[in-house]
Amino acid sequence: MAEEKKTGSGPEEEKPARESINFIHSIIERDIRDHVYDREITTRFPPEPNGYLHIGHAKSICLNFTTAAKYGGKCNLRFDDTNPVKEDTEYVESIKEDVKWLGFDWDETRFASDYFDTMYECALKLIRKGKAFVCGLNADEMREYRGTLTEPGKESPYRNRSVEENLRLFQEMKEGKYADGEMVLRAKIDMSSPNMNMRDPVLYRIAHAEHHNTGTKWCVYPMYDFAHPIEDAIEGVTHSICTMEFEDHRPLYDWVLRETEWVQPPKQIEFARLNVTNMLMSKRLLKKLVDEGKVDSWDDPRMPTISGLRRRGYTPEAIRDFCERIGVAKSNSTVDVGQLESCIREDLQPKVESRNVIFDPIRVILTNYPEDQTEECELENNKENESLGTRRVPFSGELYVEREDFMENPVKKYFRLFPGNEVRLKGAYFITCNDFVKDADGNVTELYCTYDPETRSGSGFEGRKVKGTIHWVDAKTAVPVTIRDFDYLLKADETGTEVENPDTMTIRHGFAEPSILQSEPGNRYQFFRHGYYAEDTKLSGPEEKVFNQIVGLKSSWKPKK
Ligand code: ATP
Ligand code: MG
Repeated sequence: MAEEKKTGSGPEEEKPARESINFIHSIIERDIRDHVYDREITTRFPPEPNGYLHIGHAKSICLNFTTAAKYGGKCNLRFDDTNPVKEDTEYVESIKEDVKWLGFDWDETRFASDYFDTMYECALKLIRKGKAFVCGLNADEMREYRGTLTEPGKESPYRNRSVEENLRLFQEMKEGKYADGEMVLRAKIDMSSPNMNMRDPVLYRIAHAEHHNTGTKWCVYPMYDFAHPIEDAIEGVTHSICTMEFEDHRPLYDWVLRETEWVQPPKQIEFARLNVTNMLMSKRLLKKLVDEGKVDSWDDPRMPTISGLRRRGYTPEAIRDFCERIGVAKSNSTVDVGQLESCIREDLQPKVESRNVIFDPIRVILTNYPEDQTEECELENNKENESLGTRRVPFSGELYVEREDFMENPVKKYFRLFPGNEVRLKGAYFITCNDFVKDADGNVTELYCTYDPETRSGSGFEGRKVKGTIHWVDAKTAVPVTIRDFDYLLKADETGTEVENPDTMTIRHGFAEPSILQSEPGNRYQFFRHGYYAEDTKLSGPEEKVFNQIVGLKSSWKPKK
């Protein structure tokens, strides 16, 4: 399988992107026109390294990188690692790999934790300006003082400490004189603000914890709302794109930048999070599935993580196409998972070769085929794309066909094998079923058929037509394969609520044509009449070939007209 080409500025160079001007681009274009920034348009993708990225992050990645590329600017990869407890370098590495695999190259790798000194300086500045104070209320008291949506909050009794006292206490917090939760640094804004985020929010908290990057250097850590605007400003970000739940935090974002006196401060722009039906979209909940053993790992092919989709056989092109098609909006909505599946199907359809694989075999004996004779049949690799050529597969008097391609007592309109009926073996001969054998349990084990040597595919035979065409594998050269089909991790119950699906994987042991031996982990195919499959990159090996279902052949999802 051809690997993804890398380009400096992302996928827009490879294929002219659908020219979309969304509301974010409109804001940027107005800022360019008004000369708001004398620096280049700069965005960032700022994951917290507390888990593996999921398809929701892919949307943010595509948006940030293609926006920067569109305006000739740059996009950083920034690890928002201000919370020492949940973060890990394993996650940092996986995030880099996923962003690269999606086809994007970031300008610089940054860590929010590299800015702890600057953030600390900014906090001192606020204290000196009388805009921040050290507060000794405990968590319960703090909640009580905060008020509610309908009632204003109360000012902390520590709010009017002198600048000197605040500086001393904050210094002592940093030196480790206090326990976790004993003191916090708070902004002094407005306890009666209708926006709860502006009611003297916490800027710094104490956490005696080891940080993956800074070790034990710090025991005070900045809160997201204080850290994020400063991170953006340090990096010269012009447009800080985030999801809607931060809309109410924007006044605080702006307050922090104004009070810490940055020139040409970045601007926060919110867009709607991506939600997809049948998919969990939260690192925390995905981690739970991993920890509880509901899936094997973060890259389990059932996971909506980028690494899971990659292992499943998704292509970066399909994921980028999906992110492009769903567009950017301000109001939250849920996208049908069928839309993602259409994207991968459309991408693979002209690209991948077909293989014959029998998932649930019954043996077929061709009673009139010369014993010990074998021959080769030529099969097309891709019906829609002739340039993928053909391949030769062995044929003999013993074959496997699908169990569901035979019925002892055919139902109406069943055109496949049943006693007395003739079908076409795709790319080979017409065969007629004459008899069958059952085991003690009543399962059909063998079919006795005759073939018509005149009907060989490609011979120009036009004597008669048959209604059914089925696929087959030569039994003598067949290669055993393990096939894993998947169902969604979440499924709607009777009430329409999505709940955990207890049954998400079906494992079958089938037979493939011998060319499957040349397949390598990661290779993708259309298994004829079954769907798209990829060789598993972890479990497949010379002893056992394992294939994961990428997506079925047909879509049940139709675009709304
Ligand atoms: P999670 O709850 O899954 O951990 P998060 O928003 O906390 O998600 P971050 O690591 O903070 O994850 O996210 C990095 C960036 O990705 C943020 O800018 C965030 O807004 C964006 N992002 C996360 N989830 C989605 C989503 N479902 N749709 C669009 N963007 C998302
Ligand atoms: Mg988060």
